[in-house]
Amino acid sequence: MAPLATGFDPGHSIESARRALAARLQSAGIEQPAIDARLLVGAALRLDLTGMVTQAARQLTPEEAARLEAYAQRRLAHEPVARILGTREFWGLPFRLSEATLVPRPDTETVVELALELFRERKDSHPPRIADIGTGSGAILLALLHEIPDAFGVGTDLSLTALATARGNAAALGLGDRSGFIACSYATALRGPFDLIVSNPPYIPSAEIPKLSVEVREHDPHLALNGGNDGYDAYRALIPQAAERLCPGGALIVEAGQGQAGNIETLMAATALVLDRPPKSDLTGIARAVSARKMPP
Ligand code: GLN
Repeated sequence: MAPLATGFDPGHSIESARRALAARLQSAGIEQPAIDARLLVGAALRLDLTGMVTQAARQLTPEEAARLEAYAQRRLAHEPVARILGTREFWGLPFRLSEATLVPRPDTETVVELALELFRERKDSHPPRIADIGTGSGAILLALLHEIPDAFGVGTDLSLTALATARGNAAALGLGDRSGFIACSYATALRGPFDLIVSNPPYIPSAEIPKLSVEVREHDPHLALNGGNDGYDAYRALIPQAAERLCPGGALIVEAGQGQAGNIETLMAATALVLDRPPKSDLTGIARAVSARKMPP
């Protein structure tokens, strides 16, 4: 039986289905067609990469063909692969997602890298206390707790759904006994003091949101994207709150949108915080993680 020009049927081998899907995604203008096709075939067939290679020549079952076609239709409608799979890797760890959480971005790993650099310079000996403001899936906080085995952390979020997702991720990663999750605006329910406060707050200017890709504007929660008129509403709220809740020598690290790092430094310097190093750039050269310290009184 000849495979249909569109759609998958049991006449396809795993390898030919993967190629056909990559070609369909490419002609629809999807950005990384080969990677997405591999991930979707793997998910539809419940196979890892090794399984896909060793079974490349076998034919799809009717159930697999139907599942793959359903995934293909969703991706062709610009739903991100991470949403279709309901999971995304961040810092090498698996994170479940929900409609209330951003898909964690590779850029955000820059915040984790800078935090770990600061911890390597740390002189205090007590177990580090970390807060993550607007934790979403818990990605930043849980990556840090995974790396720093004696640290404790708390994540806040306005969304109860996001907090449930983060809590589930903490448990799945074996970090449930070192993390807590609290519903509040920014850090308002926290007292501290904290050795480190991190945040990837919403920072897209409201008027820019309609111009984002379909993948972002229709699938990421706007609460996690919308930074108000100029994009800085969240920084203006959270920087003074964080400054009050850091211990002397403690650090605040926030993610910055493209071109925002300088203005964020100005907001930090206007509080009790001291800028002691340049922002850290992500892999594309954008100043992505901005830090400041609270100095002893
Ligand atoms: N980095 C995300 C994007 O560019 C935005 C996340 C945020 O506002 N914190 O789509």
